[in-house]
Amino acid sequence: MNVLVIYAHPNPNSYNSSLKDAAVEALIKKGAKVTVSDLYAMNFNPVAQLSDVRVPQDLSTVPKDLQLEREKVEWADYIIFQFPMWWTSAPAIIKGWFDRVFAAGFAYGPGVYNHGNLKGKKTMLSITTGGKHLENYGVNRLKGEMDERLFNIHHEILYFTGMTVLEPFIVPSGVSEEKRKEFIELIKERMTHLERVPMIPFPALEDYENGNLTKKEEATVS
Ligand SMILES: Cc1cc2nc3c(=O)[nH]c(=O)nc-3n(C[C@H](O)[C@H](O)[C@H](O)COP(=O)(O)OP(=O)(O)OC[C@H]3O[C@@H](n4cnc5c(N)ncnc54)[C@H](O)[C@@H]3O)c2cc1C
Repeated sequence: MNVLVIYAHPNPNSYNSSLKDAAVEALIKKGAKVTVSDLYAMNFNPVAQLSDVRVPQDLSTVPKDLQLEREKVEWADYIIFQFPMWWTSAPAIIKGWFDRVFAAGFAYGPGVYNHGNLKGKKTMLSITTGGKHLENYGVNRLKGEMDERLFNIHHEILYFTGMTVLEPFIVPSGVSEEKRKEFIELIKERMTHLERVPMIPFPALEDYENGNLTKKEEATVS
């Protein structure tokens, strides 16, 4: 099993760093091959240039940093993203990684969603939030539903490329140190049993009516 971990935190001693290290440790322990893209440490440039986003991209002149990231993506069976929730989404460096690495012709195009070019790979977000609990998220709660907050990344980026999206691992960081250590054990457990993590059942394109893209009543999941 080849696992690519995309990790984003500017502080090498952050709680996210501990979660990332724990995940990597558990994956290696179970025999997985692991590659980490530590985006801040790599000084990854998240700002797309015109040549990065031209459609179709000239894949013969791809910059070295993108070529390396794309080789890692091709190699991976699983792609795990570890980052703190910033403004109810991912840090900008992750967004920039998507903008530049997941180019048209590489990650998607002509096929999208269940026909995307990364079909067959699995992916999962591992996120920390601020505060002591996740109770601010939910129906009629202050911050709305977490699924809605993450829909853009889950559905419109990861599933758009064809990947199977697994249930995210989300923990609040503002808890006691003891609780944070418990969460570190939980991420190890999650990685140990990665194959058993349920997928998020997004509908296939075929589950939508042609033309108006409204979901058919009898829609199944992909
Ligand atoms: C720009 C910005 C936007 C934000 N937007 C949101 C938002 O929209 N929604 C939201 O919920 N939150 C938001 N936050 C809060 C953010 O999600 C949290 O600050 C972040 O998740 C905490 O993770 P960290 O890795 O940065 O923690 P750190 O600050 O590194 O650590 C948190 C605590 O864990 C301790 N710790 C570190 N390592 C360990 C370890 N191994 N074991 C036990 N304890 C340890 C640290 O000492 C510290 O007390 C935002 C923050 C920023 C900066």
